[in-house]
Amino acid sequence: MPEQADPRPLSELPLHGLIACHECDLLMQRPRLGDEQKACCPRCGYELVVHRSQMVRRALALAFTALLLYIPANFLPIMKLNLLGQTTHDTVWTGVLGLYDTGMQAVALLVFLCSMVIPLVKLLCQLVVLLCISFGRAQGLGIVLYRLYHHLREWGMLEVYLMGILVSIVKLIDLADLHLGIGLACFIGLLLSQVWLEVTMSPHQVWDALDPEGEAHASH
Ligand SMILES: [Zn+2]
Repeated sequence: MPEQADPRPLSELPLHGLIACHECDLLMQRPRLGDEQKACCPRCGYELVVHRSQMVRRALALAFTALLLYIPANFLPIMKLNLLGQTTHDTVWTGVLGLYDTGMQAVALLVFLCSMVIPLVKLLCQLVVLLCISFGRAQGLGIVLYRLYHHLREWGMLEVYLMGILVSIVKLIDLADLHLGIGLACFIGLLLSQVWLEVTMSPHQVWDALDPEGEAHASH
């Protein structure tokens, strides 16, 4: 159950006791939530904070799952294509190399960064942040990496890449003998575990855990 609201006016509350709506900038008292509760902005309905139970343990399990899927998703065949007697096994990595060899170096670099490098860096940032929280050490590093993760969020484009794969499968299915590979299942698994991880890692819980002093101020 949320605690009773502080009767003092907003201007007298400490900074840590306040929260501003991300969408409509309404300033209000920061709600204290129990497990699996969430608070929405009374003006626009935007989700302000959500409190997940066992957040660190659940998020760590998802981060390890995603890391385990990362190698097979990128290096096992997404599809096997048989066109005019010629068979190719296409992986994300051979796709990047293929683009590079056909003279599209800039596109190859972009695909390499957005579908391989940035998702991995994002995952590693999340993993280190979670380890910092669970061991209660190196919070400063955790804060830097969690900020980096927020900057990288817009650049990891696995969803776009998956859409590209699905479109090419639909287009190729009439032209060639096409078999879907285990890499595609791993790629979809990687994407789902990343989305689930993002939903599980409630940002306000992560920031509170990385800044225990702020949390202590908020509870006064
Ligand atoms: Zn709002």
